[in-house]
Amino acid sequence: MIKILKHLPAIILNKILAKVYSTPIPVVLMYHSVSDAQFLSTIPFSLFRKQIDCLFRKKRRIITFDDISFKEINNKDVLLTFDDGYLDNYEVVYPLLDKYNYKAIVFITTGFIGKKFKNLPMLSKHHIREMAESGLFKIGAHTVNHPKLNKLSYKEQKFEIEYSKKFLEDLVGMEIVDFAYPFGKYNEITLQILQERGFKRAYTVIPSSLKNICNPFLIGRMPILKTTTHYFETLLCEGYLKYCNYRRVYP
Ligand SMILES: [Zn+2]
Repeated sequence: MIKILKHLPAIILNKILAKVYSTPIPVVLMYHSVSDAQFLSTIPFSLFRKQIDCLFRKKRRIITFDDISFKEINNKDVLLTFDDGYLDNYEVVYPLLDKYNYKAIVFITTGFIGKKFKNLPMLSKHHIREMAESGLFKIGAHTVNHPKLNKLSYKEQKFEIEYSKKFLEDLVGMEIVDFAYPFGKYNEITLQILQERGFKRAYTVIPSSLKNICNPFLIGRMPILKTTTHYFETLLCEGYLKYCNYRRVYP
């Protein structure tokens, strides 16, 4: 009961925003670990399943840029992304996406492979290869050590970007063209290296619509956090962005 009361304002606000600004917008959703861990960026599987079910009920089209171009994006399109490479992405996300035949991008931090990050087990090389071979997952790079790239020198950034791309290409035998900025941090040097190294797209952590992309290296994403889960339906429509702009905050 106390839990419901605590979230009541968010639930009511979500209902209002969803009603007032209900036009669907194309979005990229940013997930991390799907587990019971207590991190802000982690959501439990029960909630994740409800969200995927919601996408299905609302007839949202789950896309990848292998299948469609920026010009072909329509209002109902959703791109699913998972950052860091948590083992639960293989154990619980993969079977559920397989059931719906939904595709996704997993951004791997290569230095975490087969280890633990935030005390959570990470994907092994074997898992990553299997996920890539399934055709459901596209593998993207997320550096070697998960640094704030804007704090690094050109040489250090080049290593983080170049080495992670090469490592993943050797592992899965496919070209790696998608990149996600750890912590959403980058600078002009980062953008230059990504283009030089043959990446085609890069993703930030700033909520925005997938419509009218001005720069393919600054694609916005809707962060799925413990604090935004009550807004999930609104997150898929223009209400959420209007709310963010009004508050001038990006939760
Ligand atoms: Zn990350």
